Amino acid sequence: MHYKEAKSILSSKNGMNLYRGCTHGCIYCDSRSTCYQIGHAFEDVEVKRNAPELLEDALRRKRSRCMIGTGSMCDPYLPLEEKEQLTRRCLKLIDRYGFGFTVITKSDLVLRDIDLLQSINTKTKCVVQMTLTTFDENLCRILEPNVCTTARRIEVLDTLSRAGIPTVVWLCPILPFLNDTEENLLGILDACFEARVRGILCFGMGLTLREGNREYFYQKLDRHFPGMKQRYVQMFGSRYSCRSPDHPALMKRFHTECKKHGVLHSPHMVFQYLNEFEDRQAGDQLSLF
Ligand code: SF4
Repeated sequence: MHYKEAKSILSSKNGMNLYRGCTHGCIYCDSRSTCYQIGHAFEDVEVKRNAPELLEDALRRKRSRCMIGTGSMCDPYLPLEEKEQLTRRCLKLIDRYGFGFTVITKSDLVLRDIDLLQSINTKTKCVVQMTLTTFDENLCRILEPNVCTTARRIEVLDTLSRAGIPTVVWLCPILPFLNDTEENLLGILDACFEARVRGILCFGMGLTLREGNREYFYQKLDRHFPGMKQRYVQMFGSRYSCRSPDHPALMKRFHTECKKHGVLHSPHMVFQYLNEFEDRQAGDQLSLF
């Protein structure tokens, strides 16, 4: 890892990335794509040391409160967060200034901050988003080797829900010929329903591949699933969007099951829910996006 003094921290849509790069090792990682111009080895994580100072300045300047998001480009609960505490320090500021918060993670380290997540959630809204891709624990250890597996993530979702913190699951990517089965889909969905998740995001049964992440993904396929790369090349060529042949049937089942269990399942509605700032203390709701 290496430190960097960042120039700014909040994007125009109130998202922030406290780190750049990631050590979770997901074999399908889109953040490795060359278009993001990381500029250093992906695992050599850049730590934006001055992020809390920049965030405090940005929050002070805001005319109105809103949801602040993190985790879209790299997981804010990397193992090095245990020592660096950038995420925790930013959470304290978000709590102190009365903003809402949402985070995307795969790590159970998020539970370390449950006190702050609860505090934010009593004043406004705090939503934890967690990615789940496979219900098969052995496959999970191959696909996402350096972070807790699906079973533990489901425990985390359940713990958060019991603590009154709403959760949303990202059901993606679904890798053609590897986890694009009805068994996998229903295993994940049942676990989500039991853990009382508020919404599930699924943009299609497939994955995206582009320069940078494709090469890495194919290397890992060669290592763990001999012959699979050739199948991908034959089926998808150099396409960006690689959909499972079972996409239509699986999507139909996805929507049917979510509807039956009263879980938000259209991306539009889930994002609307995530973006909506709620002022619980004032007793009203205000959409600021
Ligand atoms: S957690 Fe996200 S950023 Fe990190 S390796 Fe996995 S897909 Fe990439």
